[in-house]
Amino acid sequence: MLKFHIIAAICCSLLFSQCSNAQNTNPMADQKNNPHYSRTDSAHLHVSNEEWKKILSKEVYNIAREKGTEWAFSGKYYKTDERGHYYCAVCGNPLFISGAKFASSCGWPSFFESIKPNSVRYIEDNSHGMNRTEVVCGRCDSHLGHIFDDGPAPTYKRFCMNSAVLDFEPDNK
Ligand code: FE
Repeated sequence: MLKFHIIAAICCSLLFSQCSNAQNTNPMADQKNNPHYSRTDSAHLHVSNEEWKKILSKEVYNIAREKGTEWAFSGKYYKTDERGHYYCAVCGNPLFISGAKFASSCGWPSFFESIKPNSVRYIEDNSHGMNRTEVVCGRCDSHLGHIFDDGPAPTYKRFCMNSAVLDFEPDNK
């Protein structure tokens, strides 16, 4: 019987160590290791890519700092319709509210407006043989996605964003 208890205790400790390892890949855990992350400080950041590389996960770094794009229909928020706020996953800057999110068939989370006009900045993007407008975070300059003119009223804009560079916080949390 004692042997059984010892084995059970070992199994439990292994299980808990697995759980704590899993938490290290959680974006919330990443925020704790990110000294620049703040949802209230709006001061513009000047952080080198060398430093961001040490802080961000590979996926977030690739999209945010190397202008990567996640696969359509692969991100964690393209179908989300819960009420809440979307923050920059790199720096915590508030970017969008769920009320501005709409169901788009494009496969990426889509919004018709940002929380404030200066929450984001716009940069002309002529890469890949296309003429598009890139959207970057107004606080940390990270690439978020692109904006198009085929959104719904009232703005008729479609902010086509990458889920990986967004953090969603439900209102009822
Ligand atoms: Fe940011």
